[in-house]
Amino acid sequence: MNLNRNIQIIIISLLLVLNFPTAKSQSKLNIVDKTVSFGMRTTQLRNINVVIVHSVYNASGGDIYDIDLIIQQFSRYHVSSHYVIGREGTIYQLVKEKNVSFHAGQSSLPDGRTGINSCSIGIELIDSIGDSPTEEQIQALTILVKDIQSRYPIKYVLRHSDIAPGRKTDPWNMDWNDFLERIGEKPIFPEDSIPSSDKNMMFLNH
Ligand SMILES: [Zn+2]
Repeated sequence: MNLNRNIQIIIISLLLVLNFPTAKSQSKLNIVDKTVSFGMRTTQLRNINVVIVHSVYNASGGDIYDIDLIIQQFSRYHVSSHYVIGREGTIYQLVKEKNVSFHAGQSSLPDGRTGINSCSIGIELIDSIGDSPTEEQIQALTILVKDIQSRYPIKYVLRHSDIAPGRKTDPWNMDWNDFLERIGEKPIFPEDSIPSSDKNMMFLNH
């Protein structure tokens, strides 16, 4: 009897393992390849320990949220980012993580480091100044950043505006504290205690 019960338990366990997705497979990333050859530099080995979140839109005519027009715009400015997340939450990959993408510009980290492109992964949310990231985008960003955190010793997850204050204001109208909570990080800048609605006002008044 005992043997039968053990076999039953093993069979049930196997069925559970086979039929129910694990936490890992649930967060499997669906990434669309949009590899570019501009705005980037190939490297053999680099230490990744920073994630920078941006926002971008196509300001050159046509659909402001069109991924291909945004990529064309990047090519004209010789910039890129590793990932761009569309309004529906689709993750596009433009540059392999092992390579450097030119997304940060002149900027510095809280620990004083500059040359941030070399040590960071850049992620752009398609958004505009008068709009906000969609819930789908934030969910995709959360899964992507958690995945990156699981693969590299990430010291900072920061906004472009954190590393280039006065020069950059993106990501626009994003509830940063809510995002940090989702990825299990705490704010490191005092202004993060300001509610995002007030921050939007500050931006509009700027
Ligand atoms: Zn930016």
